[in-house]
Amino acid sequence: MHLSRFSRVKLAHLPTPLELLPNLSSKLGGPNIYIKRDDCTGLGTGGNKTRKLEFLIADAIRKDADVIITQGAVQSNHARQTAAAAAKMGMACEILLENRTEYTDRDYLDSGNVFLDRLFGARISHFSKDTDMDAAMSKRADELSQAGRKPYIIPGGGSNPIGALGYVNCALELLNQANEQGLKIDHVVTATGSAGTQAGLVVGLEATNSGIPLLGIGVRAPKLKQEENVYRLACETAELMKMPGVVSRDRVIANSDYVGDGYGLPTPSMIEAVLMMAREEAILMDPVYSGKGLAGLVDHVRNGFFDKGQNVVFLHTGGSAGLFGYLDAFDAASATGS
Ligand SMILES: *Cc1c(COP(=O)(O)O)cnc(C)c1O
Repeated sequence: MHLSRFSRVKLAHLPTPLELLPNLSSKLGGPNIYIKRDDCTGLGTGGNKTRKLEFLIADAIRKDADVIITQGAVQSNHARQTAAAAAKMGMACEILLENRTEYTDRDYLDSGNVFLDRLFGARISHFSKDTDMDAAMSKRADELSQAGRKPYIIPGGGSNPIGALGYVNCALELLNQANEQGLKIDHVVTATGSAGTQAGLVVGLEATNSGIPLLGIGVRAPKLKQEENVYRLACETAELMKMPGVVSRDRVIANSDYVGDGYGLPTPSMIEAVLMMAREEAILMDPVYSGKGLAGLVDHVRNGFFDKGQNVVFLHTGGSAGLFGYLDAFDAASATGS
């Protein structure tokens, strides 16, 4: 496996730290919980999309693009990191935002990631829930082409085989760190949404025959649909890397029990997890992805899914800027200090 065969621009601070969470581990009284700090990738407040963008933006440059188009939910961390990447590489950026939650308050519509999108100079347009966003991106790309521009479309979440290479790389980085630290990893847990993160990780973990199981905590689709999405993308990514068949279907495992009422809608277990991580470890999670992912991990620990003494790595995929789009969700909980 030789990732340097693919073109890549340097955007992220790598390697991200791999650390023990002593306070959270002892509070929960189960396995030793480690964290892989992909919230610290550095670009425009960081997050998991930056690793994908290193490969995606390189592809855009190879194709002579001068404007990047992408889409996401209003508080999309992917959109914000794409806006930052485009700014850094001197490209224009157009962001199409779908109001999946149908929230209309100012924090949600203008603060958090949206505020940062604007600071990075992206052009933003808004669409209502259930718009065909891929069609909307194609339409905008056609308009820009007709005006003589060279648009490059990055799919939602940067989740295609090129973007997923970033998480193949993360799997290799994690294994190197574990080997250097003498850490035997028993399980990796991550939030999973548009699937590129889990797909890239599973390719990297399987191609190296690491034997490490990976659990994705879903934030939108039901379990089987999420697993199918991840598996399909993992297969395509393995093909791009000329390692077809390296991932078997039974290595792709998702659990969508922590979605609650829907994508981007707060749940009590997410609020509890975000507050616990803030107060035990002073690490900021996010309300849409890493908070729900951590809620899944906490519940699995409480249910005895892991043995005491096992080492579990939680991949922190970032997103804390999104907290500022969700002030109301935390009002009651943070006022009582509970
Ligand atoms: C996008 C995102 C995820 C999910 O990653 P996918 O590759 O889309 O599955 C998880 N956490 C955060 C903070 C994200 O922004």
